[in-house]
Amino acid sequence: MKLILLGAPGSGKGTLAKQITRDFDIPQISTGDLFRQFASSGSKLGLELKSYMDSGKLVPDELTIQILKDRISQSDCKNGFILDGFPRTIKQAEVLRTITEIDSVILVDLAFEEIINRLVSRRICPQCGDIDNASYEGYTGNCRKCGTPLYQRDDDKLETVKNRLEVYEKNTSPLIDFYSDRLFKVSSKGTPEETYQPVKTFLKGLEAK
Ligand SMILES: [Zn+2]
Repeated sequence: MKLILLGAPGSGKGTLAKQITRDFDIPQISTGDLFRQFASSGSKLGLELKSYMDSGKLVPDELTIQILKDRISQSDCKNGFILDGFPRTIKQAEVLRTITEIDSVILVDLAFEEIINRLVSRRICPQCGDIDNASYEGYTGNCRKCGTPLYQRDDDKLETVKNRLEVYEKNTSPLIDFYSDRLFKVSSKGTPEETYQPVKTFLKGLEAK
């Protein structure tokens, strides 16, 4: 099963990816993590990648595709994979099509107001890394585990969140059209388990094909 996961930051995409990798024994391939691993690998491709990353230049699609091709040929991808963070543009989706056929694209859907509410009230413990939410019951501003005062990440401030969502919308809308014949849309308004159930049923069906 070769999947792409689409969803805005704060939509619950990461949680869903974990549930899928757990039940279907396919790895999640996030291009950010993949780049970091490759750049430190010392291989020829890795060194080429590192030169782009070190100079702050955009990694060319051709190079990204070569790295991805290498990654999906590894043995843990024998049952498939979940791509996260790639493709981001139609051009990338077209190049991806030349190396592998994607079975399904899962779109995690949540209204932007809901995402904004979730993200701007998210608070982190600087001591133990615990994540809390100022809108949750019993919230005091101190960590529930260790008592340290919680803080808000810069990434979670309202203006930043709005910008991130705008960028997401601009990049993703064309991809939704591009993959319309294999798109599975799921709402993440409920709990992580409620979000996962329809996806699980859908993937079981896909697996049986
Ligand atoms: Zn803590």
